[in-house]
Amino acid sequence: MKAFWNDIQLTHTPRFFLQRGTVRPNFETPARAVALLAACRAMGMDIVAPAEIDRAALMAVHAPAYLDFLRDGPAAWDAMLEHGPEMVANIHPTPEMLAQGARLSPTVVGEVGWFTADTSCPIAAETWPAALAAASGACAAADEVALGRHAYALARPPGHHAYPARAGGHCYLNNAAVAAERLRARGAGRVGVLDIDSHHGNGTQGAFWERADIAFASVHGDPGGYYPWYVGHAGERGGGLGAGHNHNFPLPRGSGDAAWLEAVSYALRSLGQVDALVVSLGFDASVDEPLSFLSVTADGFARAGEIVGAAGKPAAIVQEGGYNTEIIGGLLHSFMTGMVG
Ligand SMILES: [Zn+2]
Repeated sequence: MKAFWNDIQLTHTPRFFLQRGTVRPNFETPARAVALLAACRAMGMDIVAPAEIDRAALMAVHAPAYLDFLRDGPAAWDAMLEHGPEMVANIHPTPEMLAQGARLSPTVVGEVGWFTADTSCPIAAETWPAALAAASGACAAADEVALGRHAYALARPPGHHAYPARAGGHCYLNNAAVAAERLRARGAGRVGVLDIDSHHGNGTQGAFWERADIAFASVHGDPGGYYPWYVGHAGERGGGLGAGHNHNFPLPRGSGDAAWLEAVSYALRSLGQVDALVVSLGFDASVDEPLSFLSVTADGFARAGEIVGAAGKPAAIVQEGGYNTEIIGGLLHSFMTGMVG
């Protein structure tokens, strides 16, 4: 199986994020990718640097003004007096502002608040090339899937919290969404996106909310007590043409393997008839993760891989979260071994 990776993805090194009111070192680190890459090598995967995708492939998901902001914002930020090392918002447009005619400010400070959802997505000059390479890998994995073969995109930075015009939760470009659109462009009639990161894939849900040709199903910690806090409830079923094609399976803290695997199985079936799969694979559901919420074991990840493999559809496996660099390589091995048998 091919694994898509580009060393430039290591250059994105976000420094800080806010957690419970404390400034902490950002845990979406290059070391995560190093650990996953070592696992790919140990499994004998064919590690390939993907060709850089063009703007049209990104615009299938993302707004042009947002793409310009990610690429050009850091230079404008660096030109400000007394600026910090990376772009972090100090204001976001509130629902009241938006209802009353809020407009995008032409200043970089205004743009950062407009184009980000939270403080967990600091942006520096290195962010854009790394995010572009990660999205390119997801696209390349989709191209493999279009040929009927499973593929893995070692996507870092991850993507599933990124909306079409908003970064958030360590995510900038929605790699899984770009892959799903690529599959549609390559002839898949209907694509299913299964998200088993422990956090709700809110950005992916947002991208495909009104779509019937790309179904989305997410298994995650209950947003009543877990990021992204506001969405990810079972009642969110899609809108317009997409009504009934969005499926959320929130689980309580400490669910464990049996409940998680039942939800993964059910989520996969809820996608209905699809020609190809994109799997947003995060390892933060693991019992050994710093954010452990769902208490899933390594064996659970192997069983999840079996469930995906048994679907009998080619799948683009796109990396999302998972932050314990001591274990994520082993969990990738478990999942992939389960999937391909
Ligand atoms: Zn996550």
